[in-house]
Amino acid sequence: MTGRTPPIAHETVAAETFDYVIVGAGSAGSAIAARLSESGRHRVLLLEAGTDDRWIWLRVPLGAGRVLLSERGLWRFFTQPEPRLAGRRMFWPRGRVLGGSSTINGMLWVRGEPAEYDRWRDAGCAGWGYDDVLPFLKRVERYAPGDPARRGTQGPVNVVQFEPDELGAAFHHACQQAGIPATADYNGAQYEGVGILQTNTRRGLRHGGREAYLDPARGRETLVVRIGARAHRLLVENGRAVGVEYRQGGQRRLARARNEVIVAAGAVQSPHLLELSGIGDRERLASFGIASVVHLPGVGENCRDHLHTRISYECTRPITLNDMLGNPLRQAWMGLRYLLRRDGPMAACTTTVHALARSDPSLDRPDVKIQMHILSAEDPRDPKRLVLDRFPGFGIGCFALRPRSRGSVHLASADPEQPPAIVANYLADPRDRATSLAALRLVRRIAEQPALKALIVREVRPGPAAQSDEALLDHIARLGATSYHPVGTCRMGSDAMAVVDHELRVHGVAGLRVADASIMPTMVSSNTNAPSFMIGERCADFILREAGSNRTS
Ligand SMILES: Cc1cc2nc3c(=O)[nH]c(=O)nc-3n(C[C@H](O)[C@H](O)[C@H](O)COP(=O)(O)OP(=O)(O)OC[C@H]3O[C@@H](n4cnc5c(N)ncnc54)[C@H](O)[C@@H]3O)c2cc1C
Repeated sequence: MTGRTPPIAHETVAAETFDYVIVGAGSAGSAIAARLSESGRHRVLLLEAGTDDRWIWLRVPLGAGRVLLSERGLWRFFTQPEPRLAGRRMFWPRGRVLGGSSTINGMLWVRGEPAEYDRWRDAGCAGWGYDDVLPFLKRVERYAPGDPARRGTQGPVNVVQFEPDELGAAFHHACQQAGIPATADYNGAQYEGVGILQTNTRRGLRHGGREAYLDPARGRETLVVRIGARAHRLLVENGRAVGVEYRQGGQRRLARARNEVIVAAGAVQSPHLLELSGIGDRERLASFGIASVVHLPGVGENCRDHLHTRISYECTRPITLNDMLGNPLRQAWMGLRYLLRRDGPMAACTTTVHALARSDPSLDRPDVKIQMHILSAEDPRDPKRLVLDRFPGFGIGCFALRPRSRGSVHLASADPEQPPAIVANYLADPRDRATSLAALRLVRRIAEQPALKALIVREVRPGPAAQSDEALLDHIARLGATSYHPVGTCRMGSDAMAVVDHELRVHGVAGLRVADASIMPTMVSSNTNAPSFMIGERCADFILREAGSNRTS
């Protein structure tokens, strides 16, 4: 079943040799590189296609929105036209910078639902139940006020809880009036409920993979970080991954791995790199003239994402970001406050409170996430159309926590510099349509509660006339957007469509692991950054244990 990648025909290239070669310095890759190199026993090469851009908007929390309008630090991917979203091609940015998507993301810190990790374990991923992953979730984070039995207090990633703004506080109250319980720590004792959001920030600045894992590792002799280094394919000899061919500064280079190659290029690019390397569905690869190294039909399949939709409202009072960003004096106040105290709106995200809730009380667990966004815009997720409303406005966004619809990410060309073809396939499963409708109706129910109603002039989008399923689905089709959470394209498991085993080893290829959001079998009922860091920590632990230099566990 296994073969060999054809030799490089073009030019002779000198190869360097390391113990481990990691592709991708994102959330997972940063953690793996830092942990492997800190042991002092292994020489590690970390290849990152992006730069080490320290642009201010990549660091100030409120700048996350601004980053999406720019070209800096981003892979600007688009999906294929989405049939159930009016044929729109959805903008799917990913981080192209040290820290990967953790350097451009919204910084919301959500570790996932314990029950969903248990389902991973029960579906055949031994060692991935909540009790198994908890030590690694704790290892990642430094959350001072947390219950140490459940929360990490010494980890590299600093986590803080917001001070909710006035709208967030009203939303918090309104959720309870609508029957949603309050939770003091949704990452701790009680996942379900309305809670004040936590973010991975430190002293008012982003604290992602770069800041938390890579900056402290700078200067280690055991870690070499190459930026602007884009992996083109993995080298496989006699069924074993032995290195990576990459391009840097216009030059083709080779890095050989004595022990292992770890692919951590994210849910879009990890399957892409595997396919470029002959690891994927044999027939699909043949159609691009790529020789099969191992037939793994699951590569690039099982792609899941959260489809986010908002209902937006005009607010009775000028307490929204629309008012602050639209007024030069208030902007100056925000800037000054941030410079002097590192707090205020610039140190926060556009959302400060969320609810992990049941759209129907008869369900046995939460199925939707609802969150308050303190701004409103014509199309808040489409960078080309981001024009804030001229009135005080806010939105309440929602998505189905565990989408059933599955898309794919596959080669669109054998040229490694060309983007892959992404099919999100949003709402293909009728259960996702039903949950999305239920979520929108729950949003309206929350908005009708006295605590929030007092702040609402009118519903702006889609507007009160949109009551039927058809009208609401039309609203989703026009304004629904990614929550930026693609996962699952190199799914963990032991069946024929699984790509990696429970220790993240690629089936059928020795010396090769994939470790990033792509290995998640399903969504862990949450945002995906904290789980991606955890996956990186686990991968490093598997490797170090195998190499006989385990740190803890
Ligand atoms: C705009 C945005 C907002 C988000 N907001 C949140 C949020 O608020 N909370 C949350 O929990 N999650 C959020 N997410 C999702 C979360 O950030 C990601 O799920 C997580 O960072 C994924 O980590 P990863 O390690 O899988 O991949 P990434 O962090 O994406 O890392 C992949 C890395 O590999 C590099 N790479 C890719 N291909 C190659 C190649 N061929 N050669 C070399 N390098 C390569 C990339 O440049 C990148 O640095 C957001 C994501 C985005 C994009």
